Amino acid sequence: MAQAATRGRSRRKGLLNIIPGGRCWLCGQSVNRKLPPEHPAAPSADHVRPLSLGGTHTRRNLRLAHAFCNRYRGNAEPVVDDDYRAALRPLLRAEVNAWLLKWAMNGGRG
Ligand SMILES: [Zn+2]
Repeated sequence: MAQAATRGRSRRKGLLNIIPGGRCWLCGQSVNRKLPPEHPAAPSADHVRPLSLGGTHTRRNLRLAHAFCNRYRGNAEPVVDDDYRAALRPLLRAEVNAWLLKWAMNGGRG
C-alpha cells in the first residue's frame, strides 16, 4: 500500500515536469506549482483524452490543471473544447479562488 502511494506521487511529479506553462488549461488561472498535492488548487496533470478512453501519459495528451478543475472535469467529459471551457470557467475560477483564499487565511495550511 505504502509503496503504491509512493509510486503514485513520483508518477505525478514526473508528469508535471514534462508539462510547460503556469496556467490551468480548464479555468485559465495561474497554478502555484509549490502547493502540496493535497491542496485543491495544487498542480495536476490533466489528460486531454482520459486514460479510461485510451489516453496516454504523453506530453501531447497532458495539460496543466488545478487538482480541483481536473477532478471536476473527471472522465465524464472526454471532449474539452473552447465552448466547454468557456461555460465552466466562471464556476471553476470561483471555486479555485475560494480555496486559495482559505489557504492564505490559514497561513498556508489546510
Ligand atoms: Zn483551474
